[in-house]
Amino acid sequence: MRRKTDRNISDIISTIIAYAVLSGPVIILVVMMAFSCFERVKGNISFHSPFEKKVYYTIDGEFYHESKDCPVLKNSDRVYSAYKKELNGKTPCEQCVGWN
Ligand SMILES: [Zn+2]
Repeated sequence: MRRKTDRNISDIISTIIAYAVLSGPVIILVVMMAFSCFERVKGNISFHSPFEKKVYYTIDGEFYHESKDCPVLKNSDRVYSAYKKELNGKTPCEQCVGWN
């Protein structure tokens, strides 16, 4: 009786080890695929992220604006648009940043 149980346990252990050895590379492959998929999805999200969003500014303005309808821009003749990362030295407008 005891012998049988011992044998069953060692059978189970060797089966688990065999599965682990066999499925180890598969698990690594699946994890890597999931990770690369996640990276791709993350890239897509960051492509549409607020950091890629166009903002509005005037040449001599100190601020950039998240909305073209910002009251500060109403007095400006020419309003330009650019990606936020292309604007150096401009700070967010306190009126419209956070509107959307
Ligand atoms: Zn503004």
